[in-house]
Amino acid sequence: MPATQRFEGPSDLHLHSVHSDGTESPAQVMAAAHAHGLRTAALTDHDTTSGWAEAAEAAASLGMTFLPGMELSSRHEWRSVHVLAYLVDPDDAELRAMTERIRSSRLDRARLMADRISRDYDVVWDDILAQTTDGATVGRPHIADALVARGLVRDRAEAFSGILSPRGDYYVALYAPDPLTAVQLVVGAGGVPVIAHPAGRAGLLPMPLMERMLAAGLAGFELEHRENVGSAVRTLRTLCRERDLIVTGSSDYHGLGKPNQPGENTTDDAMVTRIIERATGSAPVYP
Ligand code: AMP
Ligand code: ZN
Ligand code: FE
Ligand code: FE
Repeated sequence: MPATQRFEGPSDLHLHSVHSDGTESPAQVMAAAHAHGLRTAALTDHDTTSGWAEAAEAAASLGMTFLPGMELSSRHEWRSVHVLAYLVDPDDAELRAMTERIRSSRLDRARLMADRISRDYDVVWDDILAQTTDGATVGRPHIADALVARGLVRDRAEAFSGILSPRGDYYVALYAPDPLTAVQLVVGAGGVPVIAHPAGRAGLLPMPLMERMLAAGLAGFELEHRENVGSAVRTLRTLCRERDLIVTGSSDYHGLGKPNQPGENTTDDAMVTRIIERATGSAPVYP
């Protein structure tokens, strides 16, 4: 029997743990997925695969299939573009070098933002460090949590719309590769690249860039995601139908960091199968 016949839906392919900016351990994330009725779940922490082992073990003990993933940071001009990287080889040298570079830049950038913020607000770098787990990919959500802990904002959402806004005085950009390079790195690591929340408030990426990414092996788009808005989703749905691309649906669960709940969007079994069959970098972990 082919291995791909052993997973069962419903499947949620985008969840975060404390290895990046989620608030729960990988095992807790898998338990939350299970409690929401999921039978297959991915862990897609930003720019790291360090949560995979714990998630795989927890999923197995819950009778679930674990699908290893990552959400790779990239940037096109001023906007950040997130590339979901499924079933990559976690030891691929080029991908590892890139994720290490991004994570180290994220740390420098968080320090710079902390320096700027601490001129106006009673919060220091140690407050932010206290919100991160050792080795985690650091991001603005951890700064947000420090601001919440200091009573300066109510929640992450308020921090993001104010103090942490890219239009504000405290924002510092992080280093990230361009989206085409990100796709090439994921493909080079045997993985399956899917653009996360591709129809967010920033709108669609320019079509010529998307064409270059598709030519480089971009597999599809996360069309079911609460941050997708407006007619851009319809445009992409048509593109996916015409080109027979992979379409996914996911929660982007961050524990208490966002209202998103596991399983609020799911990915069809046929699409999960296509992801598994296309990958050469690693395999799902079946119960
Ligand atoms: P960064 O990559 O450090 O710039 O931070 C972006 C991350 O913050 C994304 O992964 C989002 O999941 C998270 N994020 C963005 N906006 C919000 C928000 N309004 N509330 C909570 N988390 C957010
Ligand atoms: Zn996040
Ligand atoms: Fe994202
Ligand atoms: Fe995400």
